[in-house]
Amino acid sequence: MAKRSAKPSKSRAETRRLLAALETQHPGADTELRFTNPYELLAATILSAQCTDARVNEVTPRLFARYPDARALAAADLAELERLIQPTGFFRAKARSLVGMATEIVERHGGRVPGRLEDLVELPGVGRKTANVVLGHAFGVPGLPVDRHVLRVANRIGIAAGDDPVEVEAQLTAALPRERWTVSSDTLILHGRRVCKPRPLCDRCVVRRACDYFEEEWGAATPKASTKSPATAARRTPVRRTRRRVPRR
Ligand code: SF4
Repeated sequence: MAKRSAKPSKSRAETRRLLAALETQHPGADTELRFTNPYELLAATILSAQCTDARVNEVTPRLFARYPDARALAAADLAELERLIQPTGFFRAKARSLVGMATEIVERHGGRVPGRLEDLVELPGVGRKTANVVLGHAFGVPGLPVDRHVLRVANRIGIAAGDDPVEVEAQLTAALPRERWTVSSDTLILHGRRVCKPRPLCDRCVVRRACDYFEEEWGAATPKASTKSPATAARRTPVRRTRRRVPRR
């Protein structure tokens, strides 16, 4: 198979239109992690690695009751912390990240979570994706977190091209207005969880007629792009689950 170009197949205008259509399918898209302040969201996002948000939400009430702020978490007994977060998986590494993150926040930021990307990514256990989640949802600073769902969905549709999250983030942020970055990421994540799963439910997808993956599966007979409602779209398109052309994530 020919190597995929590093350039998205869709124009910036098409990308904006497709995201707007997806937002109609997933209105009010937002993070599903529960939090009341930046510290809680940062800790919850660290715990969400390789874990569902629902499972994280089951663990965090007891975690935040026991360690209500960065100072408390920095002083945590590692074994006790590990027991608390064990259901989220990889609990030993996550416990070390949480304590390391909290210690840095106490020592370098006076106990408050910093509100700048360059400071957040310096914290243990905090990558660019986590930093953008916290910026966008806890500080109201636009950020476009790229996780495995965003990578998969954006590549399939053709609004991004490539496996590098930083590159895909740059492609999407170049196409979308700054104020839409956070909600666009949330929308793509929800679409990846609910519809464009590793085995995609294209018959339920509002953008299927403009999607590169769908076009490759169904060929030139595919009708042109439409923004019809998901219900209408589902009625007009047969179900087909066959080979994939873009690697699953
Ligand atoms: S048409 Fe299918 S592959 Fe394309 S975005 Fe929708 S669900 Fe994903």
